[in-house]
Amino acid sequence: MSDAVLRHAPIIVVAGPSGVGKGTVIAWAREHMPRAWLSVSATTRAPRPGERDGVNYHYLGSEQFDAMVRDGAFLEWAEYAGNRYGTPLQPLLDHAAAGQPVLLEIELQGARQVRRRLPDARLVFIKPPSWEELVRRLTGRGTESPELVERRLATAREEMACEPEFDVTIVNDDVSRAGQALVDLLESASTK
Ligand code: 5GP
Repeated sequence: MSDAVLRHAPIIVVAGPSGVGKGTVIAWAREHMPRAWLSVSATTRAPRPGERDGVNYHYLGSEQFDAMVRDGAFLEWAEYAGNRYGTPLQPLLDHAAAGQPVLLEIELQGARQVRRRLPDARLVFIKPPSWEELVRRLTGRGTESPELVERRLATAREEMACEPEFDVTIVNDDVSRAGQALVDLLESASTK
């Protein structure tokens, strides 16, 4: 039933390696298209300084996350760098039913699940201008341990190789240009 509601909804899935600036591009797009709704994921990861519960993520304990998986309350979920992340289904249904274009910012395994479950969703890959630039951005954030950065770099290397699986690639060389490209996609998806 829920999948039938979502099948023709304008859903744009944004993925790309950690550190590529997905969040910044999405923030630009939302500012210029307030009608678009960004799904707030659930995660078992601890909040980073400045992050807020219910805004950046819904921060859940492992048991709470398990219960949501068991109840079928996620559109998709995946494990990434030692934590779990999932897209809550109900809010997405509500916003899609209200006719809003929906944005998901998720990692690759989740994007694949959405593709299988909702073949009409558009998958957008955000790519850095170069690998060197991505390394610079990932190591420059300074909020994580060297081990964690190394782990994220290894994952990013694998993620970069998955670009051909996506419908569209946006190079994040300039935030307003990349953000506008995302707005254009949201516009065209919602007038389909
Ligand atoms: P971070 O811990 O840096 O906020 O996120 C790590 C990765 O998890 C990012 O690539 C982010 O896009 C992804 N992510 C965030 N929410 C979800 C979700 O609901 N599902 C999936 N599959 N990945 C997510």
